[in-house]
Amino acid sequence: MTDLLITNVRPDAGSTADILIEDGLIAAVGPDLAPREGMEVVDGNNAIAIAPFVEAHVHLDKILWGLPWHSINVPDSLRAMIDNEVEIRRTLPWSVPERAGNLIRQCVAMGSTHIRSHVDISPTYRLDNLHGVLEAWERTKHAVDIEIVAFPQLGMLVEPGTAELMEAALDEGATIIGGIDPARIDGNPAGHLDTIFDIAHRKQAKIDIHLHERGELGLYEIGLIAERTKALGMQGRVVVSHAFCLGTASRDELSRAIDQLTGAGIGIISAVPGDIPVPPLFELADRGVRCAIASDSLRDTWNPHGNGDMLERCWLLSWRGNCRTDAELVAALDMGTRRGADLLDLEGHGLEPGCDGSLVLVEGENLAQIVVDRPKRALVVKRGRVVARNGAWVDEK
Ligand SMILES: [Zn+2]
Repeated sequence: MTDLLITNVRPDAGSTADILIEDGLIAAVGPDLAPREGMEVVDGNNAIAIAPFVEAHVHLDKILWGLPWHSINVPDSLRAMIDNEVEIRRTLPWSVPERAGNLIRQCVAMGSTHIRSHVDISPTYRLDNLHGVLEAWERTKHAVDIEIVAFPQLGMLVEPGTAELMEAALDEGATIIGGIDPARIDGNPAGHLDTIFDIAHRKQAKIDIHLHERGELGLYEIGLIAERTKALGMQGRVVVSHAFCLGTASRDELSRAIDQLTGAGIGIISAVPGDIPVPPLFELADRGVRCAIASDSLRDTWNPHGNGDMLERCWLLSWRGNCRTDAELVAALDMGTRRGADLLDLEGHGLEPGCDGSLVLVEGENLAQIVVDRPKRALVVKRGRVVARNGAWVDEK
């Protein structure tokens, strides 16, 4: 069913209206809309209707969500964390499709109907993680759109064969080339970036680079990324995830980095880290950098925290960002919804006629209050189909 009439809701916490979805698209928004014969009608119970959350950065292949508690063993270096994960995943009794499926259903139940997931690609894993995530998506396609980043978690130049496999991943369902800490992992910033930009440019793929490297090194690498983005005409197609270096930059350094990001049309995705300063997302957005927030690593061998709830992530940003006025709280909500959709170039995200018939109902007073209180999602609709109700996934009829 892709036709649906939802009555008695408040779009973006405004006046009460009905929302009519036909053929998966919003056909009308207004009072007293009439259903076509045989159309499913849902009473929205005066809930707030918002466009769906956008989960712009997770790792569906790493997830242990829905499984027995996994006690985290945190080795003392990034390399040791990477090797630790490979060892644990070698003997996990649950497959990638099972684990990825658990998180996909959780994300949808919390109101995210678009997911960008990185998947580990390496000579050890080959394309198994990609195939596993695609298998999980095949079973959930009616509820969620997924775009996949071919991610060299184990290193790329230090793991010969990885770049070729990342390129092959683009022929099998991935649409984005990943990268990670070009200096710390591969020990060769220019070499790492040249390789991923070459693949992405030749294959007309986007780029999404994990950049945890801090201080001057991270800022220097943002400059290298901007240079390559402009040289290859890839403006608007490159994202830097995390960009911790922006959180600790001086005013002059930040201003210079923002000029580089806007000049090259590079976006920033932050998971709102707890242990270091969050990149100044509101200032970046005000100055024209496309920004979004996301869950990143959650309930896996790296991190016990997180639950795939983007409304909670918006609250976390509002907490870390000291958002106190209604306008500031709504700006935090925007980072997990409208700005995420803009950064990922999602068409039809919104509640106006012509938009995708996808939305989330939240019982609450206004947009600021739902960020603070994080109510359960009453209903999640994907292109006219109810896919979650009362915070729980709805199995397809
Ligand atoms: Zn990540």
